[in-house]
Amino acid sequence: MKKLTSSQVRQMFLDFFAAKGHTIEPSASLVPKDDPTLLWINSGVATMKKYFDGQVIPNNPRIASAQKSIRTNDIENVGHTARHQTFFEMLGNFSVGDYFKEQAIAWAFELLTSPDWFAFDPEKLYMTVYPKDQAAYDCWLAQGVSPDHIYKVEDNFWDIGVGPSGPDSEIFYDRGQENNDVAEDDPENYPGGENARYLEIWNIVFSQFNHLPDGRFVDQPHKNIDTGMGLERIVSVIQDAPTNFETDLFLPIIKQTERLSDHYQYGDDMQKDIAFKIIADHARAVTFAIGDGALPSNEGRGYVLRRLIRRAVLNGQKLGIRDPFLHKLVAIVGDIMNSYYPQITEQQEFIAKVIFNEESRFAETLTDGLELLNNQIQAVKKAGSAVLGGQAAFKLFDTYGFPIELTVEYAKEQGLTVDQTGFDEQMEQQKQRARAARGNRQSMGSQDELLMSITTSSEFVGYDHLTIEGTLKNIIVDDQEVAEITSGQAQLIFDQTPFYAEMGGQVADVGVLKTDDDAIVAEVIDVQHAPKGQNLHLVEVKAPLRKDAHYTLSVDADFRKNVRRNHTAMHLLDQALRNVLGGQTHQAGSLVEPEYLRFDFTSLDRLTTAQLQQIEQIVNEQIWQSIPVETIKTDINTAKKMGAIALFDNKYGEQVRVVKIGDFSMEFCGGTHAQNTAEIGLFKIISETAVGAGVRRITAVTSQKAYEYDQTNMQYLEAVQSDLRVPQLKNVPAKVEQLVAELKTTQQKLQSLQTKVTQQEASNLLDQVQKIGDLTAILALAPVGGMNELRQIADDWKQQAKSDVLVLGATNQDKANLIVAVNSSTIASGITANQIIKAIAPKINGGGGGRDQMAQAGGKNPAGLKEALAAAKDFLADIKLN
Ligand code: ATP
Ligand code: MG
Repeated sequence: MKKLTSSQVRQMFLDFFAAKGHTIEPSASLVPKDDPTLLWINSGVATMKKYFDGQVIPNNPRIASAQKSIRTNDIENVGHTARHQTFFEMLGNFSVGDYFKEQAIAWAFELLTSPDWFAFDPEKLYMTVYPKDQAAYDCWLAQGVSPDHIYKVEDNFWDIGVGPSGPDSEIFYDRGQENNDVAEDDPENYPGGENARYLEIWNIVFSQFNHLPDGRFVDQPHKNIDTGMGLERIVSVIQDAPTNFETDLFLPIIKQTERLSDHYQYGDDMQKDIAFKIIADHARAVTFAIGDGALPSNEGRGYVLRRLIRRAVLNGQKLGIRDPFLHKLVAIVGDIMNSYYPQITEQQEFIAKVIFNEESRFAETLTDGLELLNNQIQAVKKAGSAVLGGQAAFKLFDTYGFPIELTVEYAKEQGLTVDQTGFDEQMEQQKQRARAARGNRQSMGSQDELLMSITTSSEFVGYDHLTIEGTLKNIIVDDQEVAEITSGQAQLIFDQTPFYAEMGGQVADVGVLKTDDDAIVAEVIDVQHAPKGQNLHLVEVKAPLRKDAHYTLSVDADFRKNVRRNHTAMHLLDQALRNVLGGQTHQAGSLVEPEYLRFDFTSLDRLTTAQLQQIEQIVNEQIWQSIPVETIKTDINTAKKMGAIALFDNKYGEQVRVVKIGDFSMEFCGGTHAQNTAEIGLFKIISETAVGAGVRRITAVTSQKAYEYDQTNMQYLEAVQSDLRVPQLKNVPAKVEQLVAELKTTQQKLQSLQTKVTQQEASNLLDQVQKIGDLTAILALAPVGGMNELRQIADDWKQQAKSDVLVLGATNQDKANLIVAVNSSTIASGITANQIIKAIAPKINGGGGGRDQMAQAGGKNPAGLKEALAAAKDFLADIKLN
């Protein structure tokens, strides 16, 4: 076998298939485009669905790639098995209705064993096939593989849920019995069994079926080949590494972690090694995921990221790493992967900052969270139980940011389980609270089967019309199609409609449906895209509606006009932001409502007031110039060539719509726009806030709303002017400045007077010496606000030597403070300040301590101060000096 670096292995794979007539496709983003069934791209074939199901015909039916993949279901395996990561690269070759089984097997065998390529010893290779797939079995025999190296295994059927599937054949590398974790005669000791000896390196899928969302398997339009070889695994074999982690893909990350840990070396301790491996894996996963546009958040992909980062931090703790560290590994990941993924190094600063922010946020609550967790675990164990309560797990999640999976893992290490049902209940309650707070807006999240089956065509004509005649094609009530409806709510599809369906951040139009004689028959509340693309109108029915009847569909013109202004203003804002912040900032979300617009964009720092003013001015300048807004329909490549800005994550068909505002802005956009920027009238930014790691949000208003916003602010200012009694608004700042300065001087005077009064009262206090038993003592409540002042008085007392013992109490908001001081003769006779404070602190529900001469306590019960003084008196009264 040849010695190769991981970069060489990746390249050799691609070169081999290029030589066999394949087009090499670059790795797609880890964030699936246009595929709601997947959270992450989890294999090469996940990006090929469009070719396999016939939707898109590739230029070349032979494709090969190295594809970034994330499999969160393998997260628990990471560090524990030799062969699993959450993030890995899948090397694959694909045939879209071109070559099939025989050729795929022949090429796989050639690549692995030919002296020109990987040059593996064929004796080390084992194959498995689906028992009914005799053809695959015969193909391997034809390559010269001996029958005792081919196993028939029942679960050789590849199926990842919705999408391509079919029987498969897996290739294993024999690492030898000396590297096994089960006995030679263990029933699991065969290729495909649970063992460490036979390592699955490559899977060839004979992809003939399409697994539909409803569970059926139907034939693909043609037979395809889909293969997947884990780069890390093949590299581990080639570099003769015991696990994937001792390869050049991971070792530099582990070495850097060792340096950060400063406590532990990789290889010293099995448990610590697991932590090293988890950190190395998660560092790669989060680096690549953020590089592909995902950001930590509370749901979906963002939640996975958050979980990975927090899990890495907890594992860092196990290695004695207390400070944020994960972000320091981004540069190394970039170095290792640079030859094929130079984007990581290019984005290094951004990625590291996002990770750093997330680590730091978790670090703030980590110590408290861990303490709560450990206390709970102790309490559960003490109570003889083995289940950590759902409430505690929820509190850890909600207050301390511990993802439930982490709590479960942590509890498991301590031999406990977690009451998941209890946790879910708490979670559900919280969700309901949130939902109730949000109000319920109809949204078509789930694509129900009925809507999937409706194929009526429906055309959107709302770019040019606000009112048209349409034929009512489908009426859906409570998930049933009906022919008529007389009242209540219904979903309607028309042959054509001027109503815009919510998309690209722009809200749906509202309006009414009317009959010929102008009577309103329904109000349109919401419009969404049905799964097959039609605009689906949610209406409140006012008068009977019939299928196939004609109605006038009429969009609320004012509503639409305001939406159009705000949408165009948003494009101007997007470009203005880029002009001011630089081209690297990009859109991260948007909302266009009639009243306002909201624009999210990536930026690590808050915008300065000067930047915001500049942005606002740029947008308004475009408005003053009265620039016509054009829309251009063209194909995607022409649009890109024109330099139109496409949204990162969006799906675009072959034909796209581009919105162009003079030479200032050009974006892909399906929304409705003003015809001329002058329609916007006026643009005002009303806030700039953070919405998540590395993402900020600008909220702005236009035209009438902007005017009203300015008016309201003016009224505030005028109210201030009138209170200040200055002749003109422009005099306000100077006057305020003057008043602030005066206030400051007055406060300083007041402060020094107060100090004097306190000193006076304190010295009065020190005259209230009483004799208690054999000692003289001052016991009093001091009219001061805290411990510092109490200490001050105690120092004075010491100077003046007024008594043997001093006990003072003070109230500090809802807290109580006590101070005790004794002189040296009292100490000499065996009584210390510490003893006294211990005797009296319980009265204020507090604890305290100190030295022999002076001790102090804080507590939560100010009402107990008097009792504390009484207790001090009793304590002293009981003392008999010798
Ligand atoms: P295993 O049983 O080892 O988890 P699998 O059957 O899930 O593997 P496939 O879904 O067939 O794997 O994926 C094809 C190839 O991708 C595998 O042969 C392996 O080389 C690689 N692979 C799969 N999962 C991982 C992972 N979590 N980490 C690294 N490589 C992986
Ligand atoms: Mg697996």
